[in-house]
Parts: sequence; C-alpha cells; structure tokens
Amino acid sequence: MIKSSLYFLFCIAALYSSPFARCQSVHSSLEVEQEKDAFFIKRIHEEALASNGAYDLLTNLIKASGGHRLSGTSNYDRGAAFVEEALSKIGFEHISTQPCDVVRWARGEDDAVHIIHANGAHESIPAVALGNSGHSDDKAVEGEVVIFYHIDSVDTYKGDLTGKIAFFARPFDQKLINTFRAYSGAVAQRVFGPNKAAKRGAIATIVRSMASNLDDHPHTGVTIFEDGVDPIPAMAISTLAAERLEHMITEGLLRVSVKSSSGEIGITSDDNVIGELSGSDYPDEIILAGGHLDSWDIGDGAHDDGSGCAHVMEAFRLLLDTGYKPKRTWRCVLFANEENGLAGGLEYARLSNERKEFHLAAIESDAGGFTPKAFSFVAQDSLVNYMKAINRIWPLLEAYSLDIQFTGSGADISPLKSQGGLLIGFRPDPQRYFDFHHSTNDNLSNVNPRELNLGAAAIASLIYLIDKYGL
Ligand SMILES: [Zn+2]
Repeated sequence: MIKSSLYFLFCIAALYSSPFARCQSVHSSLEVEQEKDAFFIKRIHEEALASNGAYDLLTNLIKASGGHRLSGTSNYDRGAAFVEEALSKIGFEHISTQPCDVVRWARGEDDAVHIIHANGAHESIPAVALGNSGHSDDKAVEGEVVIFYHIDSVDTYKGDLTGKIAFFARPFDQKLINTFRAYSGAVAQRVFGPNKAAKRGAIATIVRSMASNLDDHPHTGVTIFEDGVDPIPAMAISTLAAERLEHMITEGLLRVSVKSSSGEIGITSDDNVIGELSGSDYPDEIILAGGHLDSWDIGDGAHDDGSGCAHVMEAFRLLLDTGYKPKRTWRCVLFANEENGLAGGLEYARLSNERKEFHLAAIESDAGGFTPKAFSFVAQDSLVNYMKAINRIWPLLEAYSLDIQFTGSGADISPLKSQGGLLIGFRPDPQRYFDFHHSTNDNLSNVNPRELNLGAAAIASLIYLIDKYGL
C-alpha cells in the first residue's frame, strides 16, 4: 500500500516536472530518450525565463548601437562590434565577419508632406521618406493628387501623370487572421509603386503606411527604382492621415506638396557577423540560426530585427550553458542589409556555395519578439522526407503550443534554398507586429521580456532536437 502510494506520488511529480513523463512500468528506449528530451526542453524554457537573457541582449544591443542600425551607418558598425563580442562570450570558437557592399541612403531632416486646402492654406500631415527614395532638390514640389488602390492601375491609368503626385492608398485587409498576409497584399504599392509612377512622369509619390492599426505614426520601408529611372521623392503617410486624405479627395481636394532631402549618398561596406562551433559527429552538416542586424532608422529596430538577433544568440547561449556539445556544426549569423538590399544574405549564400557547404537546417527569426506560435518549413524537393523527421520530434514542441506552418522561411536564409536543406522561419504571434514595424514605435518599450525570452527557448529547443536526431 505504502509502496503503491509512493509510486503514485512519483507519477504525479513526474507528470508535473515533465509534460511527457508517463507512468509506465516498461519504457522503450525511445520513450526514455523522449523523457530526457522533454526534461531538457523544460529546463531550457525555465532558464530562458529566469535569466531574462534574450531581453538583456536586446537591451544591450540597442544601447551599444545607439538605437537603430541602418545600413552603412556608424550605428550599424557599433551593433556589429557588440554582437561579435557577445558571440565570443556565448562560447563560439570561431567568430568571423563577411563584408558586403551596401547602398548608403540618408534621411533628410525636413522631409514633409502638406495638404493644400482650397483657400491655399498648407496643413502638415505625419510622413516619413521611404528608403532608397529620391529628393526634391531642397524645395517642395506641388501637384495634383491621383489616387491608386493597386499598383497595376498606374499602367492602365488613362490620364497623364506628368507633373502630378501619385497616392497609393491600398489598406491592409483587416479580415485576414495572419497580418503577414495582409502586409503581402498591400506592400507592392510601397516597393514598386513609386518606380511605376516615376516612369509615367509623376514628380512624387505618397503611400499609405503598411500598418495594421490606425494611428499617426508613419511606417517607412524600402522602395525600388529600376536602373535608368531617377528616384523621385516617395513618402509614407500615417494610416489616419491616409484615410483623411482619401476622404478629402472624394470631397474635391486635389493638391498636396512634398519636400524631401533624403537620398542615396554612395556605396559602403557592412559586415555579416558569424559565430561558429564545429560539430563532433557530423561537422559537414550545418545548423544555422540567424536574424538581420540592420534595421530602419526611425525606431530602434527592437522587433525588426533586434528581437531576432537576441533570439538566436540567446538560443545558442541557453544550449551551451547546459554543457551540451553540438553533434553538427552550429552557426549563429547576424545578417547585414536585409531591409534595403539583402546584400548580407546573398553574400553569405554565395560564399557558402563557393565552399560547397551544406546547411541541413537554417532557422531565421524575423517576425518580432512576440509569443512563440509556430515554425514554418520550406524545402527544395524533399519536404515530405523532412516532415517525417520533424513529425517524430514535434510532440516535444507541441507541448509548448508550437504549430507547424508552411508560410515561407526568412529573407536572409532564402538564398540557401539551392543547397536542398530545410529552411525554417520562426513564427511568433503576428497580431501586433505591424503596429510597430518600421515606425518610431519599434522600440524596446514595445517588446515584452517574457514573450521575447520564450522565443529564444523555442528556437533553442528546435536546434537541440535537429542537432541530436538530424533530419
Ligand atoms: Zn526584418
């Protein structure tokens, strides 16, 4: 009786100490191994929350860089120096840098958009220049506004855009559960709209901010002009200003003015920063976890992508601090220039292919520091085989409410697709990401420490399982 009560208590204790502990008199060796794994993953999560390591890394990165880490700036260089030192402290044997050419684009100090009322009065609205946009020669350009809800409408526009200002007003589709799908549905107008308008003779463009909320904070982001097309001023206006302007246009308002002294100021070089630890059993199979170190300049790049950098550095720190020794080669990669060129991701893949390397799995965190929800998988041609392996280890992660998705991976790791390994995107809760993304609100105060720390634990758990079992 006493013996069976003790056994019962042991079972209850085991149940609470490990989500996968089971009271069974006979354990298969796989079950024993899974219980060890479940215990290890639980320990990783507890340490992530207790140590606050990811949040401390993010705080210190922002402090060291001086806020943002825009490509080609001294802020970026200070951020790169900080992560080099952090990777060394975490325990990576080889720290290296990979220089890559990046466009240096600088924001003007007095960029502005004004509504011109019928009585001639000018009214300023919240606006910021888009990255890679052109300037207006230190003076405001003024013109009639033509509104577009789809970039292809510029091609079919029957009127003359010469001397006019194109306004791209497509909002996020609020019906979509996944805000990244809403972003994808609207972002083309920002990336390609100004180029199309410039080719039709427009003197400037304004774009509704790519944001899921209504407020007065404009969101910047990249725009791309084709070779041979002179960049024109291109400004994002806040979602509230866009709705008001849209309404005023229906009421008969026709003119706005745009002033921008933003523009390209040459080419410079930024570094990818890489920490590496050789694997004991399969050194030729690389497991990469990375984020992009660069950010836009009007916030601190706390969610995009300081959080991703903190996630992956802390994930490796959590694993190494347990004494775990990698069986496969681990790389922590902080990529340069994701925001306005992808030079870092392209250069990393070019050198890796040149060296005939194989990335068994590359994981990118670039969707903010929110509560972990899923990992998303992409593979060249053997996804079915990979998913068999993933499905074997997944019950250990399901216990932490992590789902499997097939919604792409990450921009910086996508050039590795030709190596045939598994590309994986970390997917936190997407509901608030586009409230902050590329705006002045993308700062530390909008990152929740527990949510961020849990992201590092989720990534560490997946690295551990892939390292231990392979694919
Ligand atoms: Zn990003």
